[in-house]
Amino acid sequence: MYDPFINNFIKNCSKLPGIGTKASERIALFLMQNRQELQELNKTIELMDKHIIKCECGFFSTSNPCYICNDDKRDKSKICIVKNMADVISIEKTKQFNGTYHILGGLISSIDGCFPQDLNLDNFRDKIIKNKINEIIIALSATTEAKTTQFYILSKIKNLKVNIFEPAHGIPLGADLELLDQATLSAAIISKKEIENNDDF
Ligand SMILES: [Zn+2]
Repeated sequence: MYDPFINNFIKNCSKLPGIGTKASERIALFLMQNRQELQELNKTIELMDKHIIKCECGFFSTSNPCYICNDDKRDKSKICIVKNMADVISIEKTKQFNGTYHILGGLISSIDGCFPQDLNLDNFRDKIIKNKINEIIIALSATTEAKTTQFYILSKIKNLKVNIFEPAHGIPLGADLELLDQATLSAAIISKKEIENNDDF
């Protein structure tokens, strides 16, 4: 129906999250008829590809350290562990956390093929010691995978002089952090309960 080039565009575009074949076709038709928009989008994507890098914390930005890790107004003694970049954006929107973040890049799940070694935790213990972190909030979703992951994180930071917290309530069972409304997520971040992580754990 379309030129092979356009078919290829539609195929690739429909791989993007939230965009199906129908939307991809609409985008293709729009871009073909609006050459300036096409060129600007093309330029933006090229620049993203060229300049976006991953910070040690797991956040993608144009610098390493990223603008969050580099922000002097933030309390560097506090760190919030989250699953992905979308969770950082969600927590930032609540304005209830002024520390830095550590992005795991996934949750332990044999079904999804995500194993402990796949998580961004290789140098995490050293990072806690080096940066004199005294407060860790493990803000993961309320799922079995998250609990397994939390258990693994605790094993990695055992016997460190650091206070560890998790959101006390507000995250509904099975819910994904990034899908929570702002008020619920704010409440979950404000109300936190300490987790014991000593030898008996
Ligand atoms: Zn960073």
